[in-house]
Amino acid sequence: MDPITALLDGVLEESRSLRHGATADYIPELADADPEPLALAVVGPRGRVRGVGDDRVEFTIQSISKPFVLALALQERGRDAVLATVGVEPSGEPFNAISLEEGTGRPANPMVNAGAIATTSLVPGAGIEERTTRIVETLSAFAGRSLWVDEAVYASESATGDRNRALAHLLRSYGVIEGAVDTAVETYFRQCALLVTVRDLAVMGATLAFGGVNPATGDRVIEEHVARDVLSIMAGCGMYDFSGEWLLRVGLPAKSGVSGGLLAVAPSQFGVAAFSPRLDEHGNSVRAGAAVASIADRFGMHLLEPHDSIAVPAITVRSRGAERIVQLSGELGFAGTERVAAVLKELAGAVAPGTRVTVDARELARTHPAAMVALRDEFAVMPAGFRLRE
Ligand code: GLU
Repeated sequence: MDPITALLDGVLEESRSLRHGATADYIPELADADPEPLALAVVGPRGRVRGVGDDRVEFTIQSISKPFVLALALQERGRDAVLATVGVEPSGEPFNAISLEEGTGRPANPMVNAGAIATTSLVPGAGIEERTTRIVETLSAFAGRSLWVDEAVYASESATGDRNRALAHLLRSYGVIEGAVDTAVETYFRQCALLVTVRDLAVMGATLAFGGVNPATGDRVIEEHVARDVLSIMAGCGMYDFSGEWLLRVGLPAKSGVSGGLLAVAPSQFGVAAFSPRLDEHGNSVRAGAAVASIADRFGMHLLEPHDSIAVPAITVRSRGAERIVQLSGELGFAGTERVAAVLKELAGAVAPGTRVTVDARELARTHPAAMVALRDEFAVMPAGFRLRE
């Protein structure tokens, strides 16, 4: 077992002792699910899947489908059209709350059921079949393999889905969704019944982490700005009425589902997913939440703590004859330009007058226009011989 897999295994075993919570009981097929499976997986930039426990056990994706169908709607319809249909404010309410905006009937956000049904209604396609196909294809591209709908869970949810149907009727009465209520709701039930493993979810999360490119297949699934939008909404609203506390404690955009899955994303780092069917009072998997929180903590992934990889670009100084080359790599942002300027000032004091000093910015993986403006500006006060190659 490689060291990372061993670490995952240790985290998984720690969470195994948590036995409180209960399986969701409002969908009969889920109430009957075996509560014992436990699994964890992570996927980084090279697309290698590391999984432990029951990582090949399939379960229905449920609410974790919501961010990916949102991605499809954003990609196809654009942000303005999506925002005209559904808000992006945390509701602080349970997933099946009515939560519609006064006057407009717009659902609070795409992560609660009302918002997800509205989002699903934006997926292009003539009817249930065509839209479902579109969704299955997109989520399969996120996962890097063909996903299937569990017909028994779909039928079970459709037979008992009166509350979601009622929500859809309300949405239609406000004009938030157009067309047949059944088209939106039955498509939504099918998307929730897609079968996945934690390995799939980790790849799907990694695709969001790496700006919409699936690191396992190399395929671009969605545009980078769409991935950013989806992650922003997950950060605010992805963990039901625990979203604020999750962001505080764990600091990663995440989405959970009632079958016990949980997915979190560390941008530019990894996608991580866990599965265990017993849920807490918010509807989040008890063990999956603990395992993902522990992984995030061990790798120092809280988004809002200092991350030196951005603050400190890689700077190496080497000599080529009398010339000095200052090689920049990584990402250059606001703080990075100040650090480069400090290195240049030090060099200016150390080299003989007239020495040629070349700052090579061509290998930067990512630059931000304003940072480059700031960097160029530094050269106005540098001695003769200092120049920037970009
Ligand atoms: N299919 C479930 C429902 O709409 C999904 C809910 C969830 O996972 O939060 O009730």
